[in-house]
Amino acid sequence: MEELLTYKHFIDGTWVSSESHEMMNVINPANREVVARVPKGTTGDVDRAIASARTAFNSGVWSGKTLEERTKVLMKAADLVLERKDRLAYLESLTSGAAIRRTSNLDVNAVYSYLDVSTRIAMKMPKVERADIIPQSAIPMNSYFMNEPIGVCVGITPWNFPLVSAIFKIAPALTMGNSIVMKPASTTPVSTLVLAKIFSDAGLPDGVLNVVTGPGGSIGDHIAAHPGVDKIGFTGSTEVGTRISELAAKTVKKLTLELGGKSPVIILDDADMETAANMSMLAFCAHQGQICISGTRVFVPRHMQDELVGRLIKKVKALKIGDQLDPATILGPISNEAQLRTVLDYVDIGKKEGAELVYGGTLIKEGALAKGLFVKPAVFMNCNNNMRQVREEIFGPVQCVIPYDDLDEAITMGNDTVYGLAAGICSTNSERAHKVASQIRAGTIFINTYHIFRPDAPFGGYKQSGLGREGSYHSLMAYSEAKHVCENLSSRVDHFGMLGGDF
Ligand code: NAP
Repeated sequence: MEELLTYKHFIDGTWVSSESHEMMNVINPANREVVARVPKGTTGDVDRAIASARTAFNSGVWSGKTLEERTKVLMKAADLVLERKDRLAYLESLTSGAAIRRTSNLDVNAVYSYLDVSTRIAMKMPKVERADIIPQSAIPMNSYFMNEPIGVCVGITPWNFPLVSAIFKIAPALTMGNSIVMKPASTTPVSTLVLAKIFSDAGLPDGVLNVVTGPGGSIGDHIAAHPGVDKIGFTGSTEVGTRISELAAKTVKKLTLELGGKSPVIILDDADMETAANMSMLAFCAHQGQICISGTRVFVPRHMQDELVGRLIKKVKALKIGDQLDPATILGPISNEAQLRTVLDYVDIGKKEGAELVYGGTLIKEGALAKGLFVKPAVFMNCNNNMRQVREEIFGPVQCVIPYDDLDEAITMGNDTVYGLAAGICSTNSERAHKVASQIRAGTIFINTYHIFRPDAPFGGYKQSGLGREGSYHSLMAYSEAKHVCENLSSRVDHFGMLGGDF
């Protein structure tokens, strides 16, 4: 039995109880035991956090600092993240089910590098841009443009990558001088709370970064409609993202939405089969398929399907499933009970739709793993693009292999989805691969690889997979407002004849 961790909200630089004093349990999915308790926040708690963020913003204690001053604090926080990485990775794995061998490397390093890259890109951006084109006539005018913080932002994050999805919002928001309130997923709120304390220890002024825990179902609408919020960065399902945009529209909040996906992996007939099998495995097995960009529709030339599936199953079987805190584990448990039900339901749906289940798809019911939410990844073959388990996002380890006869047909099927987050292409012919990349309507395309993380690259979705981009300078733009200041240097006021000429 692990120690029972108890947390409060992090508001105005300190730990604060919920006004309701109600708490929620956080579960370790490896054994279904309660490992932490966090406040079941109320709309009153949300108001308090937003008010704290607003006071901090208006005071200029952060928004009024120079970028250099802000960078110093943010990089101090990044250093502290690395210093405390063992604890952070432990908490992240314990509550989300992610393998510790990944969280202690990729996840904590991503937090560091995201802060590093955000501040570096901001440093390279002009603080003030002088207008260098004189429109219409040479009238003496001093025009300049700049980016300013938006104000109070809210970050709402999912349970699959709690730390990484939090930093995707915190880094650009704070780099550009905003204040932010985070609302993490109820099943995985702990690492975000600990992260907020790290920023505070690094010298971030009180109220600039706040964390409120609580059920999205009861406080989410209040956040989305809140008149004190200027911007929402949301990562989660398309269903909730749509609801948030409807409510946010009433006060014209700025929005960044990172939503669902059902990404295709297209194997070309010249593909190296070992690479194709590795890609097909990585695309759907990493974090038990609980990644928005997971590639879970593999299109393969019909005559290559048997060989691909044979190799794929061999690779999936070799992945060690186990307790996520064991450094030897590659695949941990499914993150929560609701998600486990979804995965098993879709395996049943696949069978009923007539797809051939050739491996896995079962809950592990024997040995030490029987206590937890462990499933063997499922491989279906002979699927078609109209089956429900192929069209709908499962967000779990279910691979659907779809044979094709003609590459154009495969590309059409790959694009035949409401989503457009990512895609994979496997080919030994770079020119062909890039041509296919240009025909796929998705925000990230991987060629002969999958799941590459780059904080300097734009990340986001076409179509119903999202709105806007995280990462790179795109996210800095998304967390700032552009301003144009225009000074008349002559004695004439109406230079451009807005009143139709002399007056
Ligand atoms: P979710 O159910 O949409 O929840 C995401 C967040 O929204 C959680 O913090 C949740 O709080 C909150 N929430 C729930 N109802 C809300 C409401 N009415 N108003 C405001 N917030 C509300 O998604 P999930 O199940 O956590 O995550 C899986 C989904 O996220 C998948 O669709 C996946 O593709 C997507 N995702 C996308 C990306 C990307 O970058 N595109 C990355 C990761 C995940 P509670 O936990 O308290 O319910």
